[in-house]
Amino acid sequence: MSIGLLALQGDFREHRATLRRFGIEALEVRLPQQLAAVSHLIIPGGESTTIGRLLTRYALVEPLRARAGHDLAIWGTCAGAIILARELRDTKHGGQPTLGLMDITLRRNAFGSQLDSFEAPINAPVLGPTPLPGVFIRAPRFESLGPKVQALATLPDGEVVAARQGRLMATTFHPELTDDDRVHRYFLEL
Ligand code: GLN
Repeated sequence: MSIGLLALQGDFREHRATLRRFGIEALEVRLPQQLAAVSHLIIPGGESTTIGRLLTRYALVEPLRARAGHDLAIWGTCAGAIILARELRDTKHGGQPTLGLMDITLRRNAFGSQLDSFEAPINAPVLGPTPLPGVFIRAPRFESLGPKVQALATLPDGEVVAARQGRLMATTFHPELTDDDRVHRYFLEL
């Protein structure tokens, strides 16, 4: 098992710090040959338009599509979740290319200006009874989950904030910005 961090833009350093806390040294992935060396890839939060453009420029789109969900487990956090989505709703930015790997529809920046960033407890029964601390930063919202997609975590009002489709996982919050590493550990088991 070898863990990669997509290191084109965004908060990959925070993911690296979390993984180091339990003794895993993640590899930075920017080039196709670096991608070829990993079994797990985290696509961090950041700016999904920028990450999407850089994926094309660095010739990573085709190798990602070829391996995703088979011999490559992928977890996208926030902007990374947007990159994984099959469909995107975004009233301001119009159509933006995504990898379209997970059968989910997301709406970008969906929590409105007064809730641009917020914290809330998250229920994730697969991770145990204690709620996760949820940090949301200009987060997208899940608008629909396809039939093969399993909801993993919800806000107290029932809104889905994490989902999984086989070896692909998307979270709209940022576990790497908290000291709770259960989501990272769960991903490593995919
Ligand atoms: N709002 C950003 C986007 O749409 C995502 C924010 C984040 O990753 N924290 O790309």
